[in-house]
Amino acid sequence: MTYESVLVSACLLGVSCRYDGSHAWCPEVFDELWRSHFIPVCPEQLGGLGTPRPPAVLDGDGADVLEGKARVLAGEGEDVTPAFLKGAEEALRLARLAKAKKAILKDRSPSCGCRHIHRREGLVLGVGVTAALLAKNGIEVFSEEGDPLVLGEEMGKG
Ligand code: SF4
Repeated sequence: MTYESVLVSACLLGVSCRYDGSHAWCPEVFDELWRSHFIPVCPEQLGGLGTPRPPAVLDGDGADVLEGKARVLAGEGEDVTPAFLKGAEEALRLARLAKAKKAILKDRSPSCGCRHIHRREGLVLGVGVTAALLAKNGIEVFSEEGDPLVLGEEMGKG
């Protein structure tokens, strides 16, 4: 039997890697993945950030960050964009090594968010840095609720 390879946000599988040291255990995701070859990743840790760490917000969205048009800011405004870009690249590298064509990522994260992200003004429609890079490289990205990546048209950009 051949198992599908799926990249998944580690926090959804109970790994305590969120910014505040918590996890986001999601039994529905685990149930969906148990017949898969799944690869848990935490892009923010892969980018070199520790846990716990200051919460981060975007001043654009993940696609803008990839184009150098926006930054990721943590805590009082520290620019952590390089760490987020490195984490996204590492997640993509692992996806390629595993030949994963699909990813299930934690929504509302500055890395993994695939429908919502936090900006200083609050929660908005948008994608995180890793979600944007994976999608740009042909990987289908879904939230833990099974929703596909939000598209530019939905965000009023199209
Ligand atoms: Fe979870 Fe992704 Fe945040 Fe890591 S970067 S804690 S995997 S949402």
